[in-house]
Amino acid sequence: MTGETLMAYVGRAHCGCVQAATLDEPRHADQVRRDVAGFRRWGTVERMTVEDARSAFCLSPHPLFCPCSRARAAIAAAREEAV
Ligand SMILES: [Zn+2]
Ligand SMILES: [Zn+2]
Repeated sequence: MTGETLMAYVGRAHCGCVQAATLDEPRHADQVRRDVAGFRRWGTVERMTVEDARSAFCLSPHPLFCPCSRARAAIAAAREEAV
């Protein structure tokens, strides 16, 4: 243990899945900024610990179709609202 918590920026797709992550490394601030700008193009960006990012990460194929139950539930809810 270094005593320091590693932080990461994650990109969360609109379906709720975390699809990308980049380590928040001050030494590589330029690269981090580029990564974050890329995430913003298709989703929202959040900062969290690397531990949290790892457990939130979704390995399902994206972005054309989200196979996740979380996303399916959201779609079902949206359909109900539309009726
Ligand atoms: Zn997913
Ligand atoms: Zn998804």
